[in-house]
Amino acid sequence: MAKIPVGILGATGMVGQQYIALLANHPWFEVRYVAASPRSAGKKYREATAGRWHAAGGIPHPAVWDLIVEDANDVSKARAAEKRGDCAFVFSALEMGKDEIKTLEATYASAGIPVVSNASAHRLTEDVPMLIAEVNPQHTDIIPLQRKNHSWDKGFIVVKPNCSIQSYMTPIWALIQAGYEVKRMVVTTLQAVSGAGYPGVASLDMIDNIVPYIGGEEEKSEQEPLKILGSIAGGKIENYTGIKISAHCNRVPVIDGHTVAVSMEFGNKKPSIEEVKKIWTAFKALPQELEFPMAPVRPIIIREEADRPQPRKDRNADKAMAISVGRIRPCNVFDIRFVGLSHNTVRGAAGGGILNAELLKAKGYIG
Ligand code: NAP
Repeated sequence: MAKIPVGILGATGMVGQQYIALLANHPWFEVRYVAASPRSAGKKYREATAGRWHAAGGIPHPAVWDLIVEDANDVSKARAAEKRGDCAFVFSALEMGKDEIKTLEATYASAGIPVVSNASAHRLTEDVPMLIAEVNPQHTDIIPLQRKNHSWDKGFIVVKPNCSIQSYMTPIWALIQAGYEVKRMVVTTLQAVSGAGYPGVASLDMIDNIVPYIGGEEEKSEQEPLKILGSIAGGKIENYTGIKISAHCNRVPVIDGHTVAVSMEFGNKKPSIEEVKKIWTAFKALPQELEFPMAPVRPIIIREEADRPQPRKDRNADKAMAISVGRIRPCNVFDIRFVGLSHNTVRGAAGGGILNAELLKAKGYIG
């Protein structure tokens, strides 16, 4: 099977580099187009990332080394790449003004280039699905309507949610799906520094320290789950109203891996600890017959050790795509509490984006 040629916008950044690394041997997709800021435009990819390559190992793919980085703001370059068969769709890992990203991603879609985005700009746009492949794959059904709303022919936009909510959204969804309504949650995140991109938070603010504030993050952690759990109705994705979340988001001196401490309160039907473990162990939401290359074998891994999960030991579980949970125990205020962990630049960013693209290919939206 010929691989689908893909482009990466923001290819030189922290998340863009993860895309390059994770797609190096991908069986379905091949990186043939890279774009970043005007600062990098015109350079070979290896020159543009010299001295700031952060993904594990060196730049993995010889074919990518010499790709010329284009200016991501110049959509005509991607359009030309699409015409010569080098860019069927783009992953967006851009970091610039929210309104600028919003407009730019829409310009790609209107030019006939589907956008699988990591940026927050379109997360709350009513006809844009915000996907966690195992949780709300049915939200892709809004894509035809999105195209119709904008008179887009081939293009469309899908986004993935904030990296900090990956550590608990799938476990929460597994419980809701099993019939246990989670009514209220308090989540306290301990977020890695790579979540702020590069160079990110100054080292003097981070070493020997915790910063109890990440701009906009608590709002995202409280609002985005409502859309993910929502349903398509009246031509848009309507938020789920059955859950209330209070979030405390903290930046901690960990390189990769967001940890979260969660307390949950259930409705009338309350599961036992054993029931919760059984549901999480059995959870497997992606259709069995479709073998998505980026999908973890088990989306939720339970750590029974008293002191796990830990970022250094658990962030790379199952291609860094599994969510590790542990310390599942009764809560004195709510019902049950646990600790979740996921790799922020893989599960929470590039890996999650690739899994979404695999879902879109399986559903016939790309390729
Ligand atoms: P980053 O390391 O700062 O990289 C930003 C990328 O955007 C670079 O390729 C940069 O190109 C490009 N860029 C910056 N200004 C630009 C401009 N004016 N025009 C065109 N391109 C421009 O950021 P990141 O951490 O990779 O994050 C990328 C996106 O993913 C953000 O929207 C972020 O919110 C989201 N995200 C990040 C994480 C995470 O864990 N880091 C997780 C989930 C989602 P140059 O190299 O040329 O400057």
